[in-house]
Amino acid sequence: MKLFLLLSTLGVILAYEDLILTPEQEEILFSDSPQTRNVLTSASKKWPGGIVYYKFASSIPQDRRNLFKSSINSIQQSTCLRFVEGGPSIRYFVQITDNDNGCYSYLGYLKQGGQRLNLQRNGCWYKYIIIHEMLHAVGVVHQHQTPDRDKYVKILYENITPQYKYAFDKYKSSTVTDFGIGYDYYSIMHYNYADFSKNGKPTIQKVYPDGSPYFGSFNDMSQKDILKLRKMYNCK
Ligand SMILES: [Zn+2]
Repeated sequence: MKLFLLLSTLGVILAYEDLILTPEQEEILFSDSPQTRNVLTSASKKWPGGIVYYKFASSIPQDRRNLFKSSINSIQQSTCLRFVEGGPSIRYFVQITDNDNGCYSYLGYLKQGGQRLNLQRNGCWYKYIIIHEMLHAVGVVHQHQTPDRDKYVKILYENITPQYKYAFDKYKSSTVTDFGIGYDYYSIMHYNYADFSKNGKPTIQKVYPDGSPYFGSFNDMSQKDILKLRKMYNCK
């Protein structure tokens, strides 16, 4: 399954592939359930020792490699995760590519020789998108798809472009958790209020209005994002 996100709040309507699930994950992850959760519970989907190896495709220029490294350094500074550029001897790693087919990542550690994280040349090379996709790669799903999201947001299905309704499916509570840290309107993993809109009207509304229709972050992880990641990887 591929998810698409519209960056309507940036003034650009940009559809991009965002999260790719293996067929096995797709089967395991989806069904309705009433709890709040958004990181994978399966220990096998965590990167061993919290060390995430990555390699750049040869097509990626140096300035973008630098942007990538400084962006993920933000995750490294606030958690115990470590991102290491892998040499030839590293077998399991994230392969960073820049093909023109969207911004997307596989979910969690797949123990594969080069699980793809793609950032197309135009539209994906922003710090918050790099962090968002890397959080998928370490095992974090979208906030607005958590099992109990209906307590916090209202999904306005009538405004959603029909072929993207699946991007609002909920995960099963048995496969994701948030360690009781709670729902977060300002998670970097939250879609924004008009993403996937077919008519410009909102697709997500806050159940607890806080003076802004906006969701998510166009900068960095939220405090709750950091707490969840630290719990997930048992950071001291
Ligand atoms: Zn995503």
